[in-house]
Amino acid sequence: MVRIEGLRKSFGSLEVLRDINLNVMPGQVVTIIGPSGSGKSTLLRCINLLESPDAGHVWFHGANLAADHVNVNALREKIGMVFQGFNLFNNKNVLDNCTLAPVLLKKMTRDEAEHVAMEHLESVGMAAFAHAAVNTLSGGQKQRVAIARALCMNPDLMLFDEPTSALDPEIVGEVLEVMRRLAAGGMTMVVVTHEMSFAKSVSDEVLFMDRGVIAERGTPEQIFTAPKQERTRTFLARYL
Ligand code: ADP
Ligand code: MG
Repeated sequence: MVRIEGLRKSFGSLEVLRDINLNVMPGQVVTIIGPSGSGKSTLLRCINLLESPDAGHVWFHGANLAADHVNVNALREKIGMVFQGFNLFNNKNVLDNCTLAPVLLKKMTRDEAEHVAMEHLESVGMAAFAHAAVNTLSGGQKQRVAIARALCMNPDLMLFDEPTSALDPEIVGEVLEVMRRLAAGGMTMVVVTHEMSFAKSVSDEVLFMDRGVIAERGTPEQIFTAPKQERTRTFLARYL
């Protein structure tokens, strides 16, 4: 579904990504761990073209994202993104947050969009809050709405950038549970997270990023029980 070859990205003289290679197969969950500043967010942003690579290629469903004829907006509609900071429209209610893009971009009727939205809100346990104002919700509820909103576009791929990092510890679990179910349902996911037990239990592949490179990659068993690199061990020791 995603193929990345020789991806490089710099901001000024700062090399943020250096020769990143990655394949994501349909239905796979790939988790990215690593220290702050290692390039994790930038890598996700290159996948949905919020950043453009300096070198290398990103393919999505076999389409080279850098090719001139590629309809970036159409591709982006197939990629859902969930951020640490929710990025909901705070002046709209829950249902409107979920129907806005489908009505605008997918040309759904209001009725169709509401029907789809209610199904996804139900799946994240937020149907009862459909008419609630976003600013009355807890962080965990906001993040579950953000996931439902992304699902309303019927994406093929979901990108998560530290979706639980802004949440109080007792609320993290309800969001991880929604993500766990999404993964079990076959959604293709790339997840940046510091939730190591989640990464261990849900991932097909774990990537450890450090200073712009994928320093180590493997199955959760390999990375969490027998990391080969000293810097992976040092990083993981902080979470034990
Ligand atoms: P991570 O998500 O692993 O914490 P990021 O991808 O956000 O890392 O950032 C990697 C490095 O790139 C950091 O040093 C960050 O300050 C820098 N960076 C990220 N985005 C920009 C930008 N738009 N302009 C300048 N520097 C940036
Ligand atoms: Mg980041």
